[in-house]
Amino acid sequence: MIIMIILAPYSLKVSKERRYETDCFLRSISNKYKIIRKQTEQPSEYELFINEYWQQDDIIILEHDLVPTEKDLEELIKCKYYICSFNYYLYQCSTLLKYPVIANRKIIYINNLINYEWIKETDDFCDLSSLGFIKINKEIQYRIDLKEIINNSIKRKNIKYDNSIQSSGINFDYNLSNEFFKLNKPIHIHHKLIKHNHA
Ligand SMILES: [Zn+2]
Repeated sequence: MIIMIILAPYSLKVSKERRYETDCFLRSISNKYKIIRKQTEQPSEYELFINEYWQQDDIIILEHDLVPTEKDLEELIKCKYYICSFNYYLYQCSTLLKYPVIANRKIIYINNLINYEWIKETDDFCDLSSLGFIKINKEIQYRIDLKEIINNSIKRKNIKYDNSIQSSGINFDYNLSNEFFKLNKPIHIHHKLIKHNHA
């Protein structure tokens, strides 16, 4: 057993068909990795789930409709960087854009204000990662008070969620990435596009 916790949040609001390949993948590696699955329908459930395992070990998050291969997983685990994310597309149903974009963004400043720009497939680092398939090293976890981030985000009642898959972590990914940014730890990008069953 490789000591690497894979946290696999999923939502029943996402159809079985969309989750099927991810389920198969998780089953196929279940004899080698410690996989913890959790049904999370509300944003805070997702965040509290991650918090339960925070600072225990290196963590990989795999959300319910991303389909990596075992080789991709091994690549993520072996990589020397503290925080790593694979590329995958977000489609119109999530972004309202007519073209697919990579689910990772970088910070750009426009008139001294922070803006986020979708990265290109060839970019090696980003500042804001969607949490679809990401590794967070334990050492970094020790430097982030996740509970405080969660409490702050729960307090901000003005944040709007909808039922789409992205929304379960839409606020959390910003907040978490912001902590990485403050620690000056950009997120390393693995270029291969992971299949995302959400088109
Ligand atoms: Zn990496």
